[in-house]
Parts: sequence; C-alpha cells; structure tokens
Amino acid sequence: MDDRHLRAYQTLRRQNRLAIRAYLCPYDDLLDTLTAAGMQTGFGDEWLRLGPIKVFSDGSLGARTAALFDPYDDDPRATGQLSRSPKELIGLLAKAHRAGFQLAVHAIGDKAIDVVVEAFSRVLDRDPREDHRHRIEHFELPTDEVLDQMKELGLVASMQPNFVARWSHPGGLYERRLGKDRLAHNNPFRLIRKRKVALAFGSDGMPYGPLYGMSGAVEAPFASQRIPFAEAIQGYTAGGAFASFTERDVGTLAAGKLADFVVLSGDPRRVDTSRLAVEATVVGGEVVHRRQGIVGVPRKCEPKSTSRFSQRGVCRWRRRRPLGARGSRKSLSRCG
Ligand SMILES: [Zn+2]
Repeated sequence: MDDRHLRAYQTLRRQNRLAIRAYLCPYDDLLDTLTAAGMQTGFGDEWLRLGPIKVFSDGSLGARTAALFDPYDDDPRATGQLSRSPKELIGLLAKAHRAGFQLAVHAIGDKAIDVVVEAFSRVLDRDPREDHRHRIEHFELPTDEVLDQMKELGLVASMQPNFVARWSHPGGLYERRLGKDRLAHNNPFRLIRKRKVALAFGSDGMPYGPLYGMSGAVEAPFASQRIPFAEAIQGYTAGGAFASFTERDVGTLAAGKLADFVVLSGDPRRVDTSRLAVEATVVGGEVVHRRQGIVGVPRKCEPKSTSRFSQRGVCRWRRRRPLGARGSRKSLSRCG
C-alpha cells in the first residue's frame, strides 16, 4: 500500500468507521521515509497497526513473470524475471531489517523463492534478530531443499489456498504454465507443515475472505497439498495472528483475547465452505455486520473500571440477541 492508503485507513480510524482490524503493509519505496520518522513494525493500536514492508522479488505465474529455474511449459523462451538483482535485494532487506521492520517478500517461482531465502540467510547471518517473523508471500513453488532453510531461518510461509482451488485442477493455469511434472509441487501445504515451517493463510483478495480458499487446502488435488480441516482453519486464524505478531490478542477464541469471530450459516466441517454465508461478524465483542447488511461499527473501547470491561479493555457483551433476529442499530450490543 502507498501513502494514500495509509491516510485513508487513518481517516476511517479517526472517524470511527473502521469495522475491521488492519495490519498495514507499505511498499518498500516508503521505507526511507518511515525509517526517518522512527517508525517500526508494530506501531499503532489494536485497530490499525504498521505491519511489514512489502517487497517484490518476482511477478506472477499467470503473466509468466514469476522467476523459474526452468522455462514455462507453454512458452519455452520464458523463465520469468526477478524484480531486482540478488545483491539489490539483500541490500534492501538488510536496510529494512536493521531499521526494525518485519518484511513480507513476494516470491512465487522456485528461483525467486531460492533467491529470497538466500538473501534472508545472508541478512540474518550478519545481523541476527530474535523472533523477526519475516514472511515470504505466496510461496507457490518452493523446492524441497528450501523448506528446511525456511525452518532454520524462522521464516513464515504466507500462502493462499484459494490459488489451489482456482488453478491447481487438471488443465488449469498451473498445469498450463508449469507442465505435469512441476504441477504436483505447487503450494505444498502438507509438506510445509510437516517440516514445521510457520504457515499463515490469506486470500490475496481473490476473493477476499477464507471461505472460498478452505477447499483449496482441505480438498486439494495433490497429497502434498492436502491438510485436515482443523489445520486449514488454523492457517487462517492462529497462523495469521502469528504472522502479524498479534497472537496474544487474536487467532483463537480464549478468555482474555479479543472477541473477533464470524457466525456461519452452516457447519463448515460438513458443507463446502464456499457455499456458506457469513450470518454475522463480531469484532471486539460487537456485531458489526449481519447478512442483511452493515449494521454498525464498533465504538472505541477504553479500559474502564466497570464490570463491563476486563482489565485489558476487552469488550464484554452487554446484551445477547439471537443472531437471526432483526435488530436496529440502536439495539446492538455496545461496550460503553
Ligand atoms: Zn504479492
């Protein structure tokens, strides 16, 4: 995201119109400015927080710009391209790392992933930092060797199972671009978990939300991709919380954590999740959305010495209403 997006999020926050928590990932061209202002990953509050610096290392398989070791199956002259030289990449990652930022590096092709992991290895070797949680975004075609390095370096694989649901079927985009041999190696969620690499799931906005992507992990065409339902849920919840340093507050439903959750129209373990609807969205213990439409945004919850608030300012519900019931904005549970 660029400066316009950062301003827009702050405006929404100020006007109390932000109904979701945001972990912002500025593009690397803002790195110098943010560093000069003394900003680091983690600055902000539970609604709006400065996240990692987003760096590109290659393009996409669709556009044949993801950097591959071997040519594209449907264009033998193309092997994609690195967005910057390995030397430039190391320089950029080292600068952001030293300035106290988490990094989120876009890398899709096997060659780009290798180059990025090697760059992280150099940076962390020279300048070790505990619990950096640097991420590789998408991570669609990792080689087997790279998985052990990921674990050793403490890197997070930040992946999108919806890509598998869309592109990994016979005759799909992955097969056209990669051919039959490499096809089976795309998005190996199961192997990644087996090798104990931290795994976080997202949607990349294609489409937004996890419901469509769940099947890409649970019913993936290849055994190296397929993971059980509970592990897929974990990727979208606890995995995402870990990847954004927020596991103390979100990621699981537990006493003392923020009450952020959705209510679905059916049991996701029994029904194809892409056919389910979100009946309600609850943020900080407040219903901010019902299927009938947006019904409100959460009010800012200040810690108070009343019984309605826990010590950490976690909202407790004041009123419970059946979720199917029609409710006006006025009748929603409120925290203050
Ligand atoms: Zn990306």
